[in-house]
Amino acid sequence: MDLRNCPDCGKVFVYNTVNMCPDCRKEEEQEFIKVKEYLYKNPKIGAYDLSEATEVDEGKIVRWVREGRIQGKSFPGIVIPCDRCGKPIPEGRYCGSCSNELARGFSNATKQAEEPSVNIKAKFHTQR
Ligand SMILES: [Zn+2]
Ligand SMILES: [Zn+2]
Repeated sequence: MDLRNCPDCGKVFVYNTVNMCPDCRKEEEQEFIKVKEYLYKNPKIGAYDLSEATEVDEGKIVRWVREGRIQGKSFPGIVIPCDRCGKPIPEGRYCGSCSNELARGFSNATKQAEEPSVNIKAKFHTQR
């Protein structure tokens, strides 16, 4: 049995994929429904106003957008900070330029790592 302390209320609970005690989970579920209902009625509302109106922590709203539980794309007012540069983005973790840069950094790294095998492949005319 995996016992943990709830990060929200500090109560000990049995960990079960969600890192939160059942009480807080239930409470969060209700908050989520409240936020979603309010959002559907006010699709252009910003995350801050939404948090004020529903009394739900803005950090939770941001997390739900990151997790894809709230579709940021459908609600232009909802923006979350890019995990790398802090620029407001509608959803996910990184803004367009950061994900581009990260992708480039990635492909450079893979290119370098794979260079010998690429040469071998070219020599033997194998398919990429
Ligand atoms: Zn709790
Ligand atoms: Zn960024």
